[in-house]
Amino acid sequence: MIVVMKPNCSEASIERILRFLEQEGLSGHLSRGVERTVIGVIGSVNVQNPPGKGVITPALGEALEAFPEVEGVFRVSKPYKLASREFHPDDSIVEVPVACVAAGKVRIGGPEVVMMAGPCTVENERQLMTTAEAVRKAGAVILRGGAFKPSTSPYGFRGLGEEGLKLLAKASREFGMAVVTEVMTPTDVPLVCEYADILQIGTRNMQNYMLLDEVGRAKKPVLLKRGMAATIEEWLLAAEYILSQGNRDVILCERGIRTFEKSTRNTMDLSAIPLVKQLSHLPIVADPSQGTGRRDLVAPMTLAAVAAGCDGLLIEVHPNPEVALKDGAQSLTTEQFAELMPRAQAVAQAIGRSFVTA
Ligand code: PEP
Ligand code: MN
Repeated sequence: MIVVMKPNCSEASIERILRFLEQEGLSGHLSRGVERTVIGVIGSVNVQNPPGKGVITPALGEALEAFPEVEGVFRVSKPYKLASREFHPDDSIVEVPVACVAAGKVRIGGPEVVMMAGPCTVENERQLMTTAEAVRKAGAVILRGGAFKPSTSPYGFRGLGEEGLKLLAKASREFGMAVVTEVMTPTDVPLVCEYADILQIGTRNMQNYMLLDEVGRAKKPVLLKRGMAATIEEWLLAAEYILSQGNRDVILCERGIRTFEKSTRNTMDLSAIPLVKQLSHLPIVADPSQGTGRRDLVAPMTLAAVAAGCDGLLIEVHPNPEVALKDGAQSLTTEQFAELMPRAQAVAQAIGRSFVTA
């Protein structure tokens, strides 16, 4: 349920509503928009409340409507609440500390588009440093790289683990970039938090609810990839898990879904970008590398994703993709990445946006 306050309502009236909700065993999520202040009402589940408390009822709606500074009370029609646009009409912005930019942080979900790039997998120091230096020089401000890798085959490379995290931290210090890297299990969350600025939840783990709960309790932004067979509703419900644990810094990532088409590794669902923007206030980034699985398609899909309104990109780059331990076929060379950047910037400009620059 959401409570829409009248324009220019007083702080005291907002406080009164929040206190009333608390007395009713509910909590209020305050969202101050440019035009309107909205209070999202969250019921409590699994709590032994006294009878009638902690439940959202029509009577509660009527009681809230009786407050003079309440304009209206509406039920949130979607199964996800905190993730919905109804609950939070303005765009959410996720701030990430980035040493190489003048402001010392980037805002994901604002007017500027953020480039995140790096190898699929951290292989060794030289490979990571060479890639980080090149992508940073070309305009990326966030470094990607997997240390814990999900592998479809148990015989595939599964990453360097903590050694990989240490290398990422080293590259981050050297080039002033923030780091996004995957965490695969709830028990690894504290370790990955020591090194990463953004926790990546991979496509295979989008419905690992224990992991979602755990990153929901972490104090780091989370990049939530779309499950390869997940509907948009399931994806937003996965985001809801993280948000409902108190972590409001969720970034969605469209990375392609599985369809009958075999010529690409996945089918990149570009329509998800503007659709998610309608349904949710959360920022959304695009991963055209996993999205296509083909190096020759990464550049055109990057440009298309920017045109479709993504807030950032996650792109795989390797100094020598032929010898990459993972995802070489979809990794751009450092030169290809440098050629792509100005073209992506031109598309951003054409739609009234620009890329974060260092
Ligand atoms: C990756 O980013 O390298 C990766 C494994 O992504 P996904 O979970 O989308 O397959
Ligand atoms: Mn990959």
